[in-house]
Amino acid sequence: MPEFKPFRAQKRMKALMAGHFHGVDAASRDPQRRVAWCTSVGPAELLRSLGFEVYFPENHGAMLGATRKAQEYIPKANAAGYSPDICSYLTSDVGAYLAGETPLQQAYGLEGVPRPDVLVYNTNQCRDVKDWFAFYSREFGVPLVGVNSPVNVGEVTAEHVAGAVAQYRALLPALEAAAGQRFDIDRFREVLALSADTSRLWKACLWKARHRPTPLTFFDACILMGPAVVLRGTPDAVAFYEETLAELDERIAAGVAAVEGERLRIYWEGMPVWGKLRDLAGFLGELHAAAVVSTYCNSWVFDAFDQGGDPFEAMARAYLDLFIARSDDAKEEIMAGLLADFAVDGIVYHDAKTCPNNSNTRYGLPQRLKERTGVPYVIVYGDLNDLRCFSEEQAKTSIEAFIEQVPAGGAA
Ligand code: SF4
Repeated sequence: MPEFKPFRAQKRMKALMAGHFHGVDAASRDPQRRVAWCTSVGPAELLRSLGFEVYFPENHGAMLGATRKAQEYIPKANAAGYSPDICSYLTSDVGAYLAGETPLQQAYGLEGVPRPDVLVYNTNQCRDVKDWFAFYSREFGVPLVGVNSPVNVGEVTAEHVAGAVAQYRALLPALEAAAGQRFDIDRFREVLALSADTSRLWKACLWKARHRPTPLTFFDACILMGPAVVLRGTPDAVAFYEETLAELDERIAAGVAAVEGERLRIYWEGMPVWGKLRDLAGFLGELHAAAVVSTYCNSWVFDAFDQGGDPFEAMARAYLDLFIARSDDAKEEIMAGLLADFAVDGIVYHDAKTCPNNSNTRYGLPQRLKERTGVPYVIVYGDLNDLRCFSEEQAKTSIEAFIEQVPAGGAA
């Protein structure tokens, strides 16, 4: 197996994530403080501005996948009526709750997941998140509020933005009641500015992979993205990505390659296979193929946060621009740009059984994009958390055969 080169940033990140979980846990026990659960691309900025500690169940779902505990828990959710065909973040998270277990116990000494005062969703990514939060709303007897977003969006128009803004504003009375404090637009602006800085720095980190050889891969980024998801809108996230960016620059200056003898540059499309992240990183490394860019890690780059003006409009546009919510034509355009920017030689599409929303293999997109750009592709079938859907041997055979025939040279 190739040598892994852990980042200094990972140590700092461990401490940050521990602080995050202890912070939310402490808030859930303090009668003066409030906890909001939020979907990963939900209005975290609005919630922070109202003084909530914010907890993200999808992050917990990814932990269950990465620790390979998901398989133990998914059947418990299935038995409670949640199909094995729906989001395996949902089924592993709900199953773990029903089992009364969480990796937060072992990792951080928490008794359980922090209890929410309110649950806030945005369906920009899928309907599953709403159903997921509805389960907890019934369980905990706390309000469920959210935004129902358009999907399959071509160009994001002023009408789309206005519709979303109206929905965000309509959340305020319920959120103020749950928070026990009034909304303050200046505080909202401050939090949004911190999210904008986080997003800009995270993008700059990801864009370092344009360098040959790349100093980081998709697999590194899946680890380093934690603060962009759960701590955006805080000074800690900004400081973390400033340091990470400096470390990447050091690596580039010292000629450190994430993949020794980098020969091919790969686009990873779709969800990670959390329980096999390290194995797949090692496997591609052996083949001297570097996964330099991905749809997934880019999902927490929100250029529109920086647009200035009304903060509601900036946030609304940022969360409407999300790749997963866009039409196939728009996705094709975005991917074609990234293939050229990162000089990609080939695309690995991950068709995730339980996430059709973030599997872009089912309506001819790979074929059209190949016709347009000439970049070859392979499709592997698996899942984000449910390893019963992932045949490692078959996936590795397909990837290896693909890599052997891909010429190096990059997209035009
Ligand atoms: S986008 Fe996919 S992985 Fe994420 S919550 Fe929805 S179904 Fe689950």
